[in-house]
Parts: sequence; C-alpha cells; structure tokens
Amino acid sequence: MTMTNEAIADLALAVRGTITGPGDLGYDEARAVYNGMIDRRPALVVRCADTADVMAAVRFAREHDLAVAVRGGGHNGPGLGTVDDGLVIDLGAMRAVHVDPLQSIVDAEGGATLGDIDHATHAFGLAVPGGIISTTGVGGLTLGGGVGHLTRGLGLTIDSLLGADVVLADGTFVRADADHHDDLFWALRGGGGNFGIVTRFTFRAHRVSTVMAGPMLWELDDAPEVMRFYREFIGGAPRELGGFFAFLTVPPGPPFPEELHLRKMCAVVWTHTGSPEAAARDLQPARDFKRPVLDGVMALPLPAWNAAFDALYPRGQQQYWRGDFVTELPDQAIAAHLEHAAELPTWQSTMHLYPIDGAAADRSNADTAWAHRDARWAEVIFAVDPDPARADAIRRWTIDYYEAVHPYSAGGGYVNFMMDEGQERVRSAYRGNYDRLARIKARYDPDNAFHVNQNVRPAARAAGDAAGSGRKGGERGHRPPAR
Ligand SMILES: Cc1cc2nc3c(=O)[nH]c(=O)nc-3n(C[C@H](O)[C@H](O)[C@H](O)COP(=O)(O)OP(=O)(O)OC[C@H]3O[C@@H](n4cnc5c(N)ncnc54)[C@H](O)[C@@H]3O)c2cc1C
Repeated sequence: MTMTNEAIADLALAVRGTITGPGDLGYDEARAVYNGMIDRRPALVVRCADTADVMAAVRFAREHDLAVAVRGGGHNGPGLGTVDDGLVIDLGAMRAVHVDPLQSIVDAEGGATLGDIDHATHAFGLAVPGGIISTTGVGGLTLGGGVGHLTRGLGLTIDSLLGADVVLADGTFVRADADHHDDLFWALRGGGGNFGIVTRFTFRAHRVSTVMAGPMLWELDDAPEVMRFYREFIGGAPRELGGFFAFLTVPPGPPFPEELHLRKMCAVVWTHTGSPEAAARDLQPARDFKRPVLDGVMALPLPAWNAAFDALYPRGQQQYWRGDFVTELPDQAIAAHLEHAAELPTWQSTMHLYPIDGAAADRSNADTAWAHRDARWAEVIFAVDPDPARADAIRRWTIDYYEAVHPYSAGGGYVNFMMDEGQERVRSAYRGNYDRLARIKARYDPDNAFHVNQNVRPAARAAGDAAGSGRKGGERGHRPPAR
C-alpha cells in the first residue's frame, strides 16, 4: 500500500508519540544516530511513547511495505538504529526504570540507557551488569550480550535477563521468559534485534554499590611485558576483580596529570566489587610486577564509574569498529598489537580486551544465543575522530589493525563490536547457534521484517514449523483488534 499523507495522519492519531518525516522541523535531529559516519534518510521516524505505539508502528510499516529500523540508545556502530527510506521505531522516549528492591528485580523500558538503570538501582544498593559508557542503550547492548566492568563476577548482561516484553513482526505482543516462548527468550539473549522489539526488559539485580576502580597506566614500550603479565594474571584472579587491557592515549584533561596528556600508553582498567582491603590484596601483583606510571584505582559509586568515560565519546563523532573473540594471546599476537597500537590515529581511538572468563563462562554456548563463552576476551578496536574528512583514515587504521590480529582470534566477533561485515561474520558470531536462531527467526519473523540488524536469515520453513509452533501451552500473541 502506498504511504499517503492520509495514512501518516492516521498513524499520528493512533500514537501518543511523535512522527517526523523529511521536511518536518527536527527531521535532522530525529534521523541522527550516535555515529557521525552514518547519514541515512528514513521516510518516517516514530518516537514511541509506549508499547501500543510500537505495535501501531510495526503494523504501519508492514501495511506500507517499509523497512523497519529499531532504535534503542542509537549507539550502534554501523547505525542499525536507522534506515534509508524506511520507518525508524525510536524507543528513546521509553526510558522508565522500575526497581523492586525486595525481590531485586528491575524492569527497564526498551529505550532506557545504562545510566538510567544505574541511577534507579544505585538508590537501593543494587546494580545490573552493563557496559562501560552510561549513554549506551540497554536495548542493543542487552540483545547483543552485554560486556562490561562486572562481567567476570556477574556474567554478561543477558545472564541477568529474566524476561522481556516483545512486539513481534506481525504487531502482536508476547512475554518471553523461562516459562513463556522459551525459544524466543533463548534467542533474545545474544541474537540481537532479529526477533522482535523489546519494550520492557526484566533483570535480576545484584548487590553492588561502591567499587574500587580505575586505570593503571604503563609506558607503551612496556606493553609486551604488561600484556604477558595480564594474560597470565587475569584468568586466575578472584571473580570480584574485573580488568580490561587497553591501548590508549591519555586524555588531555583532568584527572590525568598534565605531563601524561596525549601520551600513548597501555593500561589495565580495573573494577573490584569487594572491600577496599580485598581490592588492595588482589591488585598487589599488578603493582608489584612493574610499578605503574599512574595508579588511578579509587573508591567510586558504580554509576560514577560507569559514566567516567562518557565525556570522551560524545555523540556525533566519526566511529569505526572491528572486533573478535580471543582465546589465546601468544607473543606473536602481542607483537602485532603493538605495531598498530603505536599508531593510534586519534587520542580517543583505542583497543580493549574485555575478559569474559569467570561468570560468563559458567554457562555453555548452547544455553543462550551468545556463542563464544569459551573465549577469554572480547576484543574491540575502536577508532574515533570528530572530523568527517578523516573518516577514511580511521577506517583504514581499524581494518589494518584488525587484519593483523585476526589470525590469532577465535574466529568470530561480538555483534555489538562489529560494523556491517557481511553474512559470514554474522554466522561466525553465532557459530553452532546460527541454525537454531534461523529456525526461531522463521517462527517469529518469517518475512525478515526485522532485518536492519546483524541479520539472522529465517530458515526455509519445513512442514509443521509454522509461526507460533514454538509457543508453549497454546498461547498466542496478544493481537490487536482489526481496524
Ligand atoms: C561509546 C560506546 C561504548 C560502548 N561500550 C560497550 C560496552 O562496554 N559493552 C558492550 O557490550 N557494548 C558496548 N558498546 C556497543 C553497544 O553495545 C552497541 O553499540 C549496541 O548496539 C548499542 O545499543 P543501542 O540500543 O544504544 O543501539 P541502537 O543503535 O539503538 O540499536 C542497536 C541494535 O539493537 C537493536 N535494538 C535496540 N534496542 C532494541 C529493542 N528495545 N528491541 C529490539 N531491538 C533493539 C536495533 O534494532 C539495532 O539493531 C558501546 C558502544 C558505544 C558507541
């Protein structure tokens, strides 16, 4: 059906949120995502106020044969929260978070940010493990897996996910959890935005409040020694201690001392969830093996720590991403890292190795869609530059670096650290889980309506595998009345 002005006016009446199209005031703001490299022009952006709006927007897109992009926090590297000529379902106005402190359960709307959850949970001495920048969307981060400061002790973000409210590709609504649509619940935990639009996430919260956290910095020349120490140390450290290795440039401002500003260095960025005494004990080996040039570990409320790097990565800058899972860090890989890390193209560009041993590895690859629990690190190479003229240069550096270290990787990447890298990379991200995901996709989104994502293609439908066959106990999605 052609999208007429009358149809758009009907949609505007049907929703409580706002609708913005080309020519409307605020269109450029409405279409912009976090990565300044992405410049797409959707036909409409529906900024939803509630689940009913999301259902109406999905039905509208289907009726008018529009590609759908779903936007949570808009952080995604390849800009999967927007689409040319299609309909953006923007959840950015749906950010409410409700905490039940008696049950340690947290409900977050689909457009909430990690900072929204931190703010709401910290008041009760609770936390949900997320990522390292508070402006990131809970939606994309969780559906892709979620790695961050607390992963070694508490697992991936999906390991704390208890259930989700989901609007499906036909505009119906279901609850997915261990007792309802358990196939969908399995797929949502790592399978990205492929299966539906999550309007509410329900998480188990954990008792974490103030942490001992901060970076230790060493000279870049010492990086081989630091990496070798880190490689041996982190896997045997207590789970209360997380720490990601980083190549970085010291930011040109406080709290860093002026003499270090803009120096390329290497670091381990620690987070300890135990007492200050336990942190001092557990970090002593890192202080002993080689005295850090700067030791910035201190007591911090978790929300402050999770927001500590926000100012380094403001919205609208050029960003380019690559990443892999890593199981071994042989000396040859360390040499390859060093060669490229010495050429960090801007002070915000970086390489991180996030440890995913510990609690994330307590589950098997088959337990959820996230298929690399046997790896030890999720590696990300991340180039950032405010100047659009430098987009090619940062892309080149990232790809060259990635290609040099990729031979030492576990052969697949974390979907949230990827650009648009093609079907083979999506398959290698999901490995042995891909075919199961494709079957679940065929059940819940057989026409691939949700394809603006790291796309799992629906499996060819076998007889008897019709939509809904994965639903438990004869349940059906809540279908709105025909209009
Ligand atoms: C500065 C920065 C720091 C980061 N740090 C970390 C980190 O520490 N740990 C980590 O794991 N990742 C991190 N990431 C990566 C991040 O997880 C991904 O970019 C993720 O896609 C962001 O989610 P979003 O909701 O903000 O993005 P969006 O661009 O809004 O969405 C990303 C994808 O998720 C889908 N999606 C989003 N919300 C929903 C929803 N409610 N229902 C269905 N589909 C949805 C979208 O359709 C799209 O395919 C970081 C990214 C940035 C830019």
